[in-house]
Amino acid sequence: MSDHTVKVRVTDLHKSYGDTEVLKGLNLEVQDNEVVCMIGPSGSGKSTFLRCLTDLEMPTKGQVIINDHDLSDAKTNLNLVRENIGMVFQHFNLFPHLTVLQNITLAPIQLKKMTPSEAEASARELLAQVGLADKADVKPNSLSGGQQQRVAIARALAMHPKIMLFDEPTSALDPEMVGDVLGVMKQLAQDGMTMIVVTHEMGFAKEVADRVVFMADGLIQESGTPAHIFEHPQNPRLQDFLQKVI
Ligand code: ADP
Ligand code: MG
Repeated sequence: MSDHTVKVRVTDLHKSYGDTEVLKGLNLEVQDNEVVCMIGPSGSGKSTFLRCLTDLEMPTKGQVIINDHDLSDAKTNLNLVRENIGMVFQHFNLFPHLTVLQNITLAPIQLKKMTPSEAEASARELLAQVGLADKADVKPNSLSGGQQQRVAIARALAMHPKIMLFDEPTSALDPEMVGDVLGVMKQLAQDGMTMIVVTHEMGFAKEVADRVVFMADGLIQESGTPAHIFEHPQNPRLQDFLQKVI
């Protein structure tokens, strides 16, 4: 059944590496315009989960549907699915030999067949959106970590994704850089982007998330509104986790 308000539907997702089962049967639906923050201890499978929403990782069992495309269906055009998902990682992975502008225009020119001038105009708009209009012509290494991460966000947005996945985008940053990056993400959320954000920034989750999902031991242990998760946590492991991080 096609339901266009559902952007992501994950059903009974399992992922094993050898004999080790890392994801043990996750179910999650994300609606259009929804912001879901995913929290949980290190090693609980959060990054593996995000990678299973792209073709970076193949689930062992279960179903992942993105924008009505079933990732495990051999007939699905993965290039199309890939274009609809933007991903931002802890480490920005910008191309060091290209300028900021070239980092952003590369994929739109190569994959979306945009003309260089169209791609450049769009890239300059995105750079302004992330507060880096004056950095178009520098190399990434001359920027701070926070600035590089904002370039990485602009680069992901350049493909006009329908969904943005963030995997601890501020974890590698010096504390004074974190706010600018979270500010860009908050604006994106307010502009209606559908987002799944793995984060340890509980303030961001409280303020920006529509729903918070707590993962531990390869399973979603609890999910709910920020008020539910932060003020009335039920699961003892969530209670324990919150005590450690807040
Ligand atoms: P989180 O992002 O919540 O910290 P991960 O998804 O990175 O958790 O990892 C969950 C578990 O899966 C960890 O025990 C990790 O060692 C294991 N794991 C992740 N990726 C691989 C891989 N490619 N091969 C083997 N084990 C992996
Ligand atoms: Mg991780």
